[in-house]
Amino acid sequence: MTIGIWILGDRLTTKQLCLQNNRDRRQQTPVIFIESNNYVRQRPYHRQKLVLVWSAMRHFAEELKADNWQVTYKIATDFVTPLQTWIEQQQITELQITTPCDRPFHQLIQNLNLNCKVTFLPDNHFLWSKDEFITWAKSRNRLLMENFYREGRKRFKILMDGNQPIGGKWNYDRQNRKPPKKSLQTPEPLTFEPDTITQEVIDWIEQEKFSNYGQIKPFTWAVNRQQAQQVLTHFVQECLPQFGTYQDAMITGEYTMWHGLISPYLNLGLLEPMEVIDAVETAYYQQELPLNSVEGFIRQVMGWREYMHGIYYFQEENYGQSNWFEHHQPLPKFYWDASQTEMNCLRQTLTQVEETAYGHHIQRLMVLNNFALIAGISPQEIENWFHGAFIDAYDWVMQTNVIGMGQFADGGVLASKPYAASANYINKMSDYCGNCQYNKGDRTGEKACPFNFFYWDFLNRHRDRLKSLGRMNLVLSHLRRISAEEWEQITAQAKQWWDEELGRK
Ligand SMILES: Cc1cc2nc3c(=O)[nH]c(=O)nc-3n(C[C@H](O)[C@H](O)[C@H](O)COP(=O)(O)OP(=O)(O)OC[C@H]3O[C@@H](n4cnc5c(N)ncnc54)[C@H](O)[C@@H]3O)c2cc1C
Ligand code: SF4
Repeated sequence: MTIGIWILGDRLTTKQLCLQNNRDRRQQTPVIFIESNNYVRQRPYHRQKLVLVWSAMRHFAEELKADNWQVTYKIATDFVTPLQTWIEQQQITELQITTPCDRPFHQLIQNLNLNCKVTFLPDNHFLWSKDEFITWAKSRNRLLMENFYREGRKRFKILMDGNQPIGGKWNYDRQNRKPPKKSLQTPEPLTFEPDTITQEVIDWIEQEKFSNYGQIKPFTWAVNRQQAQQVLTHFVQECLPQFGTYQDAMITGEYTMWHGLISPYLNLGLLEPMEVIDAVETAYYQQELPLNSVEGFIRQVMGWREYMHGIYYFQEENYGQSNWFEHHQPLPKFYWDASQTEMNCLRQTLTQVEETAYGHHIQRLMVLNNFALIAGISPQEIENWFHGAFIDAYDWVMQTNVIGMGQFADGGVLASKPYAASANYINKMSDYCGNCQYNKGDRTGEKACPFNFFYWDFLNRHRDRLKSLGRMNLVLSHLRRISAEEWEQITAQAKQWWDEELGRK
């Protein structure tokens, strides 16, 4: 019997079970990596995402070769042809694969019809396995992230003093999320020059024109585990102390603020969630860092990331088709080309995504996603865009963040109210409005900010549906203060915006 291992592009870790279990016979164990050109042409992926994934795969393959694994690396049109040939050549009787996180990819592999036994091994890259999450979820009447997070803190003994949270509170959010001050000194992100492997991938992607979305250069992301660990160390030293305080702030030209920039590496397997949490907790004890920052960050990785992964499996497979508000507008063209919008917050954020394939959480949630929600864009269209545009996007993290949290298309499985906001929020948390051709204070009129008329139009269109969500009552009570005449103007202005947008297509 010969076991062969297929390493998937988002499981680039020696900790996965198929590598661990066969390590002692690695010189006799064939391992294959496949870059499928057809697969990446499914959607317009940001070119830096393609560079990152393929470069990281090629680097990981080199690491395994150096460690005496029998590595085959194939660049092919599809997956099945190189797999079949390799299975025959190596006389493989059992193919082992880490169970893919993304359901569509799992199905794709199940349908490949290969000439050997195929065994999926559990994915051990999350703190909670699928089954553990489902057991937790089934024991609850309501799925609250905060409860899940506290359970995780207790289970893994992180920031705990016996049975109690360090500092006496579970959550220090109140000290976080300060608006940006004018004179903030932000840390420089750690960047990397492309090495020979990365440069070859860049040239290949340019030559074959796999996608025309996003700038391919400068490409400064880490591409192997060692570099990803340096990013983590840099974050802990330079960014973590202020992470919490300005977690939600947005400043023109400041792309990364105090954020970790680690999601691409966590999602590829170059970093492990527990090593990230350990590094942050250790720094808290050794360097006496502010608890609001440390707890705030650990909540992201131990709470939100795990919760989103769990919910993806807990929900039915058709979760991604949810559309609670019945929004059907197409995605405006400017999402693919920032220069086509005059809305400064969107233009700045979309330009940043084009340049780097990255935006931080609030840019994603309260600018890019918020606009799509209040303007009534189809949740599936905006999800499709996020999936193509971001360096860290995968199906499991897309559906929960965009369909659930961002678009509230699941009717409240994930969030207790929609993340909808007018210019008021964007102006408070950023400096974007100061340089915008629209007036942040106007709801109607020639210079009215589209975030304003769309926000109020959204509340008005869905007021009956929103009434069922207790947390919306205060906001809905403001609707009474708007005169019938102004409602007419708001509705007309929202319609006119769409007429003009659709006319441009
Ligand atoms: C509309 C929308 C789309 C998003 N798309 C993605 C995506 O494609 N891929 C992705 O990994 N995250 C996504 N997120 C979650 C979050 O915005 C990113 O994980 C984060 O911005 C990544 O940057 P960072 O590493 O600098 O994060 P930091 O702000 O430094 O946070 C630390 C880490 O916490 C984790 N995390 C925090 N919140 C979440 C969350 N809601 N879901 C999953 N992980 C979380 C990430 O691993 C992140 O690296 C999305 C959020 C929203 C609202
Ligand atoms: S005024 Fe409106 S469109 Fe302009 S930056 Fe502010 S929120 Fe965005």
